Amino acid sequence: MTGVLVTGGAGFLGSHLCDRLIARGEDVLCVDNFFTGSKRNISHLLDHPYFELMRHDVTFPLYVEVNRIFNLACPASPIHYQFDPVQTTKTSVHGAINMLGLAKRVKARILQASTSEVYGDPEIHPQPESYWGKVNPIGIRSCYDEGKRCAETLFFDYFRQHRMEIKVVRIFNTYGPRMHPNDGRVVSNFICQALAGEDLTIYGSGLQSRSFCYVDDLIEAMLRMMDSPPDFTGPVNLGNPAEFTMLELAEKIIAITGGSSKLCFKPLPEDDPRQRQPDISLAKKSLGWVPTVALDDGLKETIAYFRRMLAQ
Ligand code: NAD
Ligand code: UDP
Ligand code: UDP
Repeated sequence: MTGVLVTGGAGFLGSHLCDRLIARGEDVLCVDNFFTGSKRNISHLLDHPYFELMRHDVTFPLYVEVNRIFNLACPASPIHYQFDPVQTTKTSVHGAINMLGLAKRVKARILQASTSEVYGDPEIHPQPESYWGKVNPIGIRSCYDEGKRCAETLFFDYFRQHRMEIKVVRIFNTYGPRMHPNDGRVVSNFICQALAGEDLTIYGSGLQSRSFCYVDDLIEAMLRMMDSPPDFTGPVNLGNPAEFTMLELAEKIIAITGGSSKLCFKPLPEDDPRQRQPDISLAKKSLGWVPTVALDDGLKETIAYFRRMLAQ
């Protein structure tokens, strides 16, 4: 029995992961309920003999035979995960239980796409994996943050209780082609605004900072994590430590698009973290991985993608 299951495989990260898995000859089962993902992201794979697409919601049980599972199903942007917060928690928690139950039955190795949001609004900078986080349990981001934290708990309890092979990666802000144009994330918002000649919307002062990882770097790290020795469970931070303020990001995007957009300032959303930067020492040591794509280069690729998309 061989086969790799990618839940959320029609989404931004999932579709790139499917591409890489197919390219290296794996038999891929992509499962998605198309809440935020789209068939367009994987349309080029549909005719491939080793690619299979299944419309399914991971909050319901799934009986298939695979030997590796990448569990990515979950809306990732605040606009999408706050649209139906109860379903967001269900996706993280019931989805994790179902995928862990599946992995247990078929003895598959399983990787969870966790998030830097488990650190909440961090008091430690940059954040090492040993930091437990500062998360509001009842705020508007909690369905995502606490859902992902509970999923990590489930992964480690299945590991301890059932001796399963688990892998947990904490992904920091990642960007690239196939990001959803309307997901409200800063990179897609700024690019779409710059290409439309509109003002770029800076929330708050614009001095808050983020670290942006290009999708190709991230997928490489996820594959290395899945292939790492069984005793390495993580959690491991994956991201690009290079940190930029939103003002710096806006300037770069205006410069690369060659547009003449101005900045306009809007209120800062509730619970918006002030800064976030991964400490990736563990990923360097255990996976031999460091990100290689500079922000300017990744932005050029992403801007080219959005230009093509908006021209259609
Ligand atoms: P995305 O929204 O593009 O992809 C998520 C996919 O999951 C979509 O295709 C969606 O339709 C699918 N999905 C949602 N609920 C589902 C359900 N109940 N059943 C089946 N499929 C479902 O987001 P993404 O950026 O590709 O994120 C993928 C994963 O990585 C998510 O788990 C997210 O939390 C995690 N992550 C992403 C980032 C980032 O910067 N992109 C950062 C941290 C963590
Ligand atoms: N499950 C699944 N596919 C499988 C096996 C299990 O979707 O191949 C789901 C099922 O809904 C179950 C959950 O995973 O409730 C957890 O499974 P586990 O064996 O851990 O616990 P159970 O609830 O069966 O006691
Ligand atoms: N942001 C912004 N303008 C936008 C969208 C987002 O200034 O049009 C800010 C947002 O307030 C946050 C940062 O950019 O401080 C990153 O937001 P995003 O939603 O992309 O990621 P996250 O907050 O989850 O890291």
